[in-house]
Amino acid sequence: MHGEFELINRWLAPAHASTMDTGVVLGVGDDACLLSPTAGQQLVVSVDTSVEGHHFPAKAPASAVGHRALAVSLSDLAAMGARPRWCLMSLALPVSDAAWVAEFAKGFHALCDAAKVNLVGGDVTAGECAVSVTVMGEVEPARALRRSGARAGDILAVTGALGGGAGGLAAWQAGEHDLQHPLVSRYLLPQPRLEAGRVLAELASSAIDISDGLLADLGHVLEASKLGAKLDAQAIPLAEGLVDLLGEEGAMQAALSGGDDYELLVTLAPERLAAAQAELASFGLALTEIGRLVEGSGIDGVKMPTKAGWQHFSGGEP
Ligand SMILES: [Mg+2]
Repeated sequence: MHGEFELINRWLAPAHASTMDTGVVLGVGDDACLLSPTAGQQLVVSVDTSVEGHHFPAKAPASAVGHRALAVSLSDLAAMGARPRWCLMSLALPVSDAAWVAEFAKGFHALCDAAKVNLVGGDVTAGECAVSVTVMGEVEPARALRRSGARAGDILAVTGALGGGAGGLAAWQAGEHDLQHPLVSRYLLPQPRLEAGRVLAELASSAIDISDGLLADLGHVLEASKLGAKLDAQAIPLAEGLVDLLGEEGAMQAALSGGDDYELLVTLAPERLAAAQAELASFGLALTEIGRLVEGSGIDGVKMPTKAGWQHFSGGEP
């Protein structure tokens, strides 16, 4: 087996030393890193662990595993309206496989570059294949988007389209393993909505990223904000190819309770919707109104998922 340190140094350390203002005083290679946060900003920190067979399929391409592990953590920073700055990554592997780690690192570093996040520490250990990624970002004081900020009368809106995560998993299980496939790419190569999160931090009253499914994540916002919601199910934007794959009812189930979409669900005052839509449209992302926040509790306007529907999309191993 390659030594742990050799793996870290060869594949997990940043490929190039950046001369940009990265805030990294001391990076990979010492006992710990030293970071210099921007004066006056709040630090936003989140961690997510992805386990093979539970969060991604055992045969998923290594580059996608690397991308996805970072993407799901960055999605939480997007939902807070934060600007990502640094990350830490811990990888467990059952056997040493230098080629796999090289591909994994390629996917991981490509998203690091795209999201302007610096890997400042890593760890490789023997074990069941799993990746844990801690992300750190910054946000202006009082600007972070909390789940508790929604108000009665606010519009409920989502970025992009929903159901692609569950649709991609269904397509993968049916034997479609092409990462270019629109649904498979939504599942294995999710795009954290960081740019949208930064814009919405100025316009929205609350936000959450859709990891557990629209109904479950909306439920978290309603609970935190002590409100109810009236959903317009027909307005929910469905991922490309979803109805063809799952039929109309299956597509709706996937959008409502499938999860793994990593779109942002936001609430905002009605007079701010047009401005938010225009800002997101400037980088090609839709923001679709799908309902309203109301006094009270619970979600009105949709048939709640049947037990069979819920189990179909959330109970299976990928
Ligand atoms: Mg989240």
